[in-house]
Amino acid sequence: MPTPKKLNGTVIVTYRCNARCSMCNRYKAPSRPEEELTVETLRKLPPMYFTNVTGGEPFIRTDLKDVVRELFRHSDRIVISTNGFFTDRIVDLCKEFPNVGIRISIEGLEATNNAIRGLPDGYRRGYETLKTLRKMGMKDVGFGMTVQDCNAPDLVPLYDISNEWGMEFATATLHNSFYFVENHNIIHDRAAVAAHFEKLVCALLKSNSPKKWFRAYFNHGLINYIYGQKRLLPCDMSFDTFFIDPYGDVMPCNGTKDKEVMGNLNRQTWDELWNSPEADAVRRKVRRCTRNCWMIGSASPAIRKYLPRPAWWVLRHKLRALLGLKPYSMYELPAVRALRDGQVTAAELDALSTCERADAVTDNGLSAASRAQLAYSTGEAIVAADPDVRGTP
Ligand code: SF4
Repeated sequence: MPTPKKLNGTVIVTYRCNARCSMCNRYKAPSRPEEELTVETLRKLPPMYFTNVTGGEPFIRTDLKDVVRELFRHSDRIVISTNGFFTDRIVDLCKEFPNVGIRISIEGLEATNNAIRGLPDGYRRGYETLKTLRKMGMKDVGFGMTVQDCNAPDLVPLYDISNEWGMEFATATLHNSFYFVENHNIIHDRAAVAAHFEKLVCALLKSNSPKKWFRAYFNHGLINYIYGQKRLLPCDMSFDTFFIDPYGDVMPCNGTKDKEVMGNLNRQTWDELWNSPEADAVRRKVRRCTRNCWMIGSASPAIRKYLPRPAWWVLRHKLRALLGLKPYSMYELPAVRALRDGQVTAAELDALSTCERADAVTDNGLSAASRAQLAYSTGEAIVAADPDVRGTP
């Protein structure tokens, strides 16, 4: 029998979150712990070349080590996205799995980070966790930043810090979807934010790391995204990539307006759901999707799959850096030039974004039981009273 093709998977282990990020309302819509993915369900996952473990805040789950142990049976590489708050739990997990990757969300320098993420002492805790992991000799450690108007000036300073510490630096920008329980995210001053991305792209291209040159391409794609343009590369989510939510629902991605379900791994085998008519219907929707997301979860598999295009971009721009020229200008993107030259207005670009009218309803993707608990309490109060969160120093 031929070896099955390895997939790229994202496992959303919980929708519970202890942060209060300004660009994500997931903390208002938590899952119930007893409904969340079990090891028995994870046992049915297919072979994967890469798995991202995310939430909510994954380390709220006190059995995360069991989850990761099971995932390593399926996946060549695992990276956990976290807010870095539960330092002891993170350190404890990394002692057992020194080859796991850890990405801590840091949204800017101290004041900016704490204002955006709403975590008490979040910046200091995040950095302390990063430093501790470094001291332990963890290799795959870094931080991730979601760039928006208020923190864009911190983009390059944070990149410099990541270099000083020899850490990975992952970037993202604002998206709207059921996953973020948000549909009003938008960049207001596109040119100003893009100018900070441009500086980062230049710095990455000047580095000696091929990985960073491709990161430069990814950030070039982020500028393209905030101008509401067509993705630089096709989106093939649900073909060789999947997301699974805390309820076992398998989805193409986390960028859709409403939750799209291919099947449920609690009730079905992987082969049944992956080859089902429902999965094919979702794939047809993906082919017609115009949301043009550019998140690492959907861009990275595309860069890998359509490598010649990004490789040609990297080659041309790296050559400029080697010749001592400015390696990159954001004005190579037609939409950036069009806004500068008054051929398009900010309002016209706003209309191309996924930001909706103020009264638009947001899908939160919760199960009926998780939704029901919100009838008598808020998501914040439910999570604050959760024994898995309460009493954490
Ligand atoms: S563009 Fe791709 S990642 Fe974004 S919502 Fe559509 S299918 Fe999902």
